[in-house]
Amino acid sequence: MLKVGIGTDLHRLALGRPLILGGVSIPSQWGSIAHSDGDALIHALIDSLVSPVAATDIGRLFPDSDPAYRGADSMHLLREASGRFLQGVTIHNIDAVITLDAPRLSPHIDSMRGSIAQALGIETAQVTIKAKTSENTQPYSVEAQVVSLMEI
Ligand code: MG
Repeated sequence: MLKVGIGTDLHRLALGRPLILGGVSIPSQWGSIAHSDGDALIHALIDSLVSPVAATDIGRLFPDSDPAYRGADSMHLLREASGRFLQGVTIHNIDAVITLDAPRLSPHIDSMRGSIAQALGIETAQVTIKAKTSENTQPYSVEAQVVSLMEI
């Protein structure tokens, strides 16, 4: 059976925090405020994958009230979610949009695609990511939206 999943995530930005998206460290003066490493793209991706398969979400799997996930590497959470819920699931494709005013993400898109593909054991061509700006309407946040299509 084909199933489609959607995930979204948003983090506020602050000066001096690391900016990590898709498991890639992006040089930036501003980064995500978060309990984990604040990787909004991976958080949205996890929701898009686990929701249709297991009727759960990242907040229930990895609660931000749990000290175990303080500063957590979101790629580790992705691999853990994949190991628990995606055995026997075929991922057809993943498509994402990131909204961030600065810095420009285009130099990092292919690294993010490769990093996600490697974590999930799929081809880079199955992962597509677009970067948008908010036209300066949301200069202090980073937002990600992800759609995943799977065969279960
Ligand atoms: Mg998040």
